[in-house]
Amino acid sequence: MEITDKIKILKKEKNAVILAHNYQSSEIQDIADFVGDSLGLSMEASKTSASVIVFCGVHFMAETAKILSPQKTVLLPEKSAGCPMADMIDPEGLKALQSRHPQAVTMCYVNSPAAVKALCDYCCTSANALRMAQGILSKNKKIIFVPDQYLASYVAEKANCDFIKWEGYCPIHSEILPGHIMLAKKLHPQAKVIVHPECKPDITSLADVVTSTEGMSRYVRSSPDKEFIIGTETGIIHRLKKENPDKHFYPASDKAVCADMKKINLEKILFSLENMSHEITLPDDIMDKARLSITRMLETI
Ligand code: SF4
Repeated sequence: MEITDKIKILKKEKNAVILAHNYQSSEIQDIADFVGDSLGLSMEASKTSASVIVFCGVHFMAETAKILSPQKTVLLPEKSAGCPMADMIDPEGLKALQSRHPQAVTMCYVNSPAAVKALCDYCCTSANALRMAQGILSKNKKIIFVPDQYLASYVAEKANCDFIKWEGYCPIHSEILPGHIMLAKKLHPQAKVIVHPECKPDITSLADVVTSTEGMSRYVRSSPDKEFIIGTETGIIHRLKKENPDKHFYPASDKAVCADMKKINLEKILFSLENMSHEITLPDDIMDKARLSITRMLETI
C-alpha cells in the first residue's frame, strides 16, 4: 500500500486533519487538508472539528494551533522543526525592553514563541500587521514590534511611524539579495516581482508587490500577467503553479529554502499519526495569556 493511502486511512481512524504551511514540500502540500500561511492555518486550527491536528510547519505554528484549540491533540511530525527568527527572541529580553518603554504596547509577529506571545498585547501576521499597527496608532500608542526588524521596517514605512524594534530577522528571506532580483528581471523582463515583507528593504523597494504568501496567491490569481518572480521561500511555487497552470513562476533565489520547513516528510507524518507524536504541550497560564494576543490577531482580518 502507498504511504499516502496509509496516511489517509490513519487520518480517518484518528479523526485527524493535516494542516500544511505554504513552504512545505510539494508531497506534503498535496496530501494536506488545508495549505496556507500562518494566518490561514491559525484560523483553520481554530475552527476544525477534528480531534487531532497534524501540523506540518514549524514549532511556533503548532504552538499557535494548540493555544487556539487547547482541547485538541496537536502533533508536530518533526520535533526539531523550529524557526530561527522565532528563536531570536526570549521572554527575558522582551521584558527588559518593555521595562525601558513602559508606555508602549507590544505587538509580536506570529513567528515568536508562545512564552513571548504571552507577554504581548497584540499578535500579527505579515497579512494583517499593517492593519493592526494602524489600529493601535489611531489610539496614539507607541509600539514595540518584535521580533522581525524587516517586517517592522516595512510596516513602519507604510504606516508612516516609528517602532521600537527587536533586531530579529529571517535568515532565509534576508539572503535574497538585490543582485538576485536584478538577474531574474534580466532573464524574465515581462515578469512581475512579488516579495515577502520579511525581505530586507533593499529587496522590498525593488518589488512590484510586497505581500504575505496568501496575498501572493490572491494577487497572482487575479492578475492578467503571466510571469512572476517570487521573492520568498520556494515551496510556495508549487501551490502557485497548481492554482495557475497557465502562468510561469521563477524563484528570486533558488537558495531561498527553509531547512526547518523541509524537515517534515511523508514518513514522519505517518509515524506521527501511528504514535501520536510529537504532541505539543504548553502550561495553561502561558496559553491563556498568549490566546488574548492571538485572538486580537484573528479579529483583525
Ligand atoms: S522561512 Fe524564515 S521565518 Fe519562515 S520558518 Fe523558516 S526561518 Fe522562520
